[in-house]
Amino acid sequence: MLPELEKLISLQQIDTRIRILKKNIETADQRRINLQKEFDRKAGEIVEVQTRRREANNERIKLEAKVSDIKSKIQRAERNLRVARNQKEYEAAVRELDVLQKQLSALETELLDKMVIIEEADKFLSERAEEISKLEAERKEALENFDRQLEHDKAQLEISLKVRQEVFASLSANSARVYTRLIERSNDGIAVAEVINESCSSCFMKLRPQVMMELKRAEKIITCESCTRILYIAKAEAETTA
Ligand SMILES: [Zn+2]
Repeated sequence: MLPELEKLISLQQIDTRIRILKKNIETADQRRINLQKEFDRKAGEIVEVQTRRREANNERIKLEAKVSDIKSKIQRAERNLRVARNQKEYEAAVRELDVLQKQLSALETELLDKMVIIEEADKFLSERAEEISKLEAERKEALENFDRQLEHDKAQLEISLKVRQEVFASLSANSARVYTRLIERSNDGIAVAEVINESCSSCFMKLRPQVMMELKRAEKIITCESCTRILYIAKAEAETTA
């Protein structure tokens, strides 16, 4: 194979790799969010119960504070009742006590409801404890793998960019110009296309027998008559179509 063509092929391979790495890095944030969502979906019912428990517990704390407030008001009202000096004061204290006790009773009913929700949630969560810890472990592992892969991609991108510079600098001025023009024009980032089944693998144009012969002779750089990309024929393909 022509040394210049070999360089062009390896430049194309590096550029394709760079393109993939850049895309991986650019889409990483969104892909990480999607990965987390996937686990949230898997743990859907569990997350729901955990949320319900947390909310019920917050309400329980508020209700308990209200209950203790009412209880101290009741104590005060009972004191007032004991020390009432006349019928009017006595009746006022009785009325107040009555109102407070009704409030207390309502709060205690509400509190009981919350306790039931919490108990049921705890029962569900303890029954599913194994599944929950398994899911959490899987989620942690998946995210760690993701982050590791991302770091790896970033490191690979840096290396690839350096190698690219070297390979590009070794091209002839003409090859460099042609390659750059093709890359800039293409949507798929392909300037050097492999020939597969006697066709250009980028535009799928079937190559004329004359072009195939020239490709196998490999004496000069051949371009696709349809898309103008630089063509090359892999060793295996050259043998099977010989
Ligand atoms: Zn083509």
